[in-house]
Amino acid sequence: MEINDFTINSIKSEYKKGNLTPKELLDYVFKGIKLYDSKINSFITLTEEYAYKAIESLKLDEIDLKPLWGIPVAIKDNMCFRGFKTTCSSKILENFIPIYTATAVQRLIDAGAIIVGKTNLDEFAMGSSTENSAFFTTSNPWDLERVPGGSSGGSASAVAARFVPLATGSDTGGSIRQPASFCGVVGFKPTYGTVSRYGLVAFASSLDQIGPFGTKVKDVELAFSVMSGKDDMDSTSHPYQFTSVNRNIKEYKVGVIKELYEAEGFDIEVLNSLNNVIKILKSEGLKVDVCSLPHLKYSLPVYYLVATSEASSNLARFDGVRYGLRVEGKDIIETFSKTRGQGFGSEVKRRIMLGTYALSSGYYDAYYLKASKVRTLIVNDFEKAFREYDFLICPTSPTTAFKKGDKTSDPLSMYLSDIATIPVNLAGLPGISIPSGCDNKGLPIGLQIIGRPFNDSEVLNFADQLESIINFEARPQLGGI
Ligand code: GLN
Repeated sequence: MEINDFTINSIKSEYKKGNLTPKELLDYVFKGIKLYDSKINSFITLTEEYAYKAIESLKLDEIDLKPLWGIPVAIKDNMCFRGFKTTCSSKILENFIPIYTATAVQRLIDAGAIIVGKTNLDEFAMGSSTENSAFFTTSNPWDLERVPGGSSGGSASAVAARFVPLATGSDTGGSIRQPASFCGVVGFKPTYGTVSRYGLVAFASSLDQIGPFGTKVKDVELAFSVMSGKDDMDSTSHPYQFTSVNRNIKEYKVGVIKELYEAEGFDIEVLNSLNNVIKILKSEGLKVDVCSLPHLKYSLPVYYLVATSEASSNLARFDGVRYGLRVEGKDIIETFSKTRGQGFGSEVKRRIMLGTYALSSGYYDAYYLKASKVRTLIVNDFEKAFREYDFLICPTSPTTAFKKGDKTSDPLSMYLSDIATIPVNLAGLPGISIPSGCDNKGLPIGLQIIGRPFNDSEVLNFADQLESIINFEARPQLGGI
């Protein structure tokens, strides 16, 4: 069996025509993973037995009632799925088995999705290349020498390799959009609060957001429509109700973010691809201007103060007492320090130290408080721009996928690969990455589209129409591995 168009719609229509059964699709999915994932390393855990059992409860007469009926899904391994390991790619949680399921995951299951496994990530979602996983590095299916991006590199590569049509990610500073861009797939970070964070292991609570990966905008829209909405288990969740929008793309006004366009550090081919998108939009009759958001230049320092401060507080719970790794010491203090010393990797330790410092008495005002104030200036810049424009666009990342090891010894250069995605988290906005072309090495380039808060449906509507015009059809060839 060969499935070429691996979209939810086409899978469901094959089901309905009787050309395919969920069991045949699972056979195909697990066969693909077994053939190729030893080279790509997208998955930490496969839930094969569970998946075959789960399809037994699918009733064909419910196929139109359940939007994700029989759709195989991969889950980033920082989201709890009851009874299966949730490691966060960290030694400290290597054997942690949660006793509950994240709301977003449960909603996918309730909509008929079949969980097939948990995917690799940078430890605790801290990183941009998946090289910070304590277990193994994931490869980019377009070029195995390169990273898939991060932190949700396992999910992005699993969708790019067509192991699964759909996967979940979490995005604190770009962890859905940047790997989507590196892997030539669609990745959507919804407005902060639209998808419950209950059961997502917290990194930086004011920035973390769950979202989907797919090969087409319509698929991530469907997953988002299922996952979003109020959840009493997450006090920051918003009573958001998804309704799809159908407005002609020509009616929209688009701003190109000057600071992420006429700036240094962006590959020429990435900018050329953006120029091509601008040309397309103009030829469709849209109004497109360059607009300035002057405080965006502070995004990186603001993010690395806010995110590390929140992380230092969130990660305090991993102490060897409640759950996860415990390394005994002669007293409780030594037990804490041995557990954390051996359980956390170096990037996580770096962040905890930075954050603890930024929050400590005497430094709080100069660092954390100051960063929070500048964050508000960034929010204001977006607000002002959205008075004029419906969407803002820019490259998702300054470069295409880089080689493994290229940035591991220089954290700052790694941090810079999120320069275009981080501001969107700081302002809590919806942002999507769609493929806009390839560079001369044949590696995919991503375009980021940013919308007003809670205008997620408009972003998806715009992205869907632009996707059809761009008509990106390239995909990685796995036959060679
Ligand atoms: N790469 C960024 C970081 O390391 C963003 C990570 C994320 O979005 N989880 O913090």
